[in-house]
Amino acid sequence: MTDKIIEVSNLSKQFKEVKAVNNLSLNVFRGDVFGFLGPNGAGKSTTIRMLLSLISPTEGDIKIFGKPLKAKRNDILRKIGAIVEKPDFYGYLSAFKNLEILGKLSGTNTSKNKIMETLELVGLEKRFKSKVKTYSHGMKQRLGIAQALLHDPDLIILDEPTTGLDPQGMKEIRELILYLSKEKNKTIFLSSHILYEVELVANRMIILNKGTTQVEGYVEDLLNANELKVTFRVGDKEKALKLINENYWIKKLESQIEDRFVFNLAPEEISVLNKYFVQNDIPVNAVVPMRSLEEYFLKLTDKEA
Ligand code: ADP
Ligand code: MG
Repeated sequence: MTDKIIEVSNLSKQFKEVKAVNNLSLNVFRGDVFGFLGPNGAGKSTTIRMLLSLISPTEGDIKIFGKPLKAKRNDILRKIGAIVEKPDFYGYLSAFKNLEILGKLSGTNTSKNKIMETLELVGLEKRFKSKVKTYSHGMKQRLGIAQALLHDPDLIILDEPTTGLDPQGMKEIRELILYLSKEKNKTIFLSSHILYEVELVANRMIILNKGTTQVEGYVEDLLNANELKVTFRVGDKEKALKLINENYWIKKLESQIEDRFVFNLAPEEISVLNKYFVQNDIPVNAVVPMRSLEEYFLKLTDKEA
């Protein structure tokens, strides 16, 4: 039996004019790091706010831990840790004090040991006495995750936890997510608008656009889809075009603009085509492969921009 942690069926949310979430269904299984990917405005935060019972759906059902969210709200929320928007802290108080207060507010009995243990988990134990206003953005994000972990939840929901972080900060959050998943057996629901951020940590994902699922599956399968789009930049474009037109590579040519020839290729064909150009005295200045998923996602994101 597979253990469904989140079960969303035909979920919709209509704001006045905007249908933010449109007939969305998804399942998250125990142990998943589930990537919830989509461009800005796709409906990620709206979905997450419904999962956390902060807003109610217009239509559809949500079950978490196998129970209906509507009927079992409090039981369920007790076992979820989340960061939704930029977490808010008391800047003049220490990280330790902040967690102590937040723990009390949420009604969990948090011992000093538990607070220190959680700070250690997110790598803030050395700075536990510092005022939060002296923290970097990345440290505040990690403190946000610490707050979400304080009551030892089974399910952790993170809405774009790396927003505004530098590459090092992003890496730290990724490592923390993997640690929580692998060492602490947490189920993690992670939203992001950055594909590579999701692919590095998630085992399953969906791509959301306009409130509905566009792509769904195991990250490995989605990324290893057989064809690549490969851009060849060549030195002699007329000669290259003539050559390509004369043989079966023409079937693989998707487009050509100036010196950029874009082919749909299996991975093993890249070097073959490269050799073919070079043997025919056409210099190859660059070969840039792009996975179809990456290309697809870029197009979605482009439309938004
Ligand atoms: P994401 O988190 O993927 O960027 P959101 O869920 O925040 O997307 O937003 C989805 C859509 O719903 C957007 O068009 C947004 O403007 C709209 N939206 C979100 N919240 C509200 C609200 N409270 N009232 C009206 N429209 C909203
Ligand atoms: Mg959002």
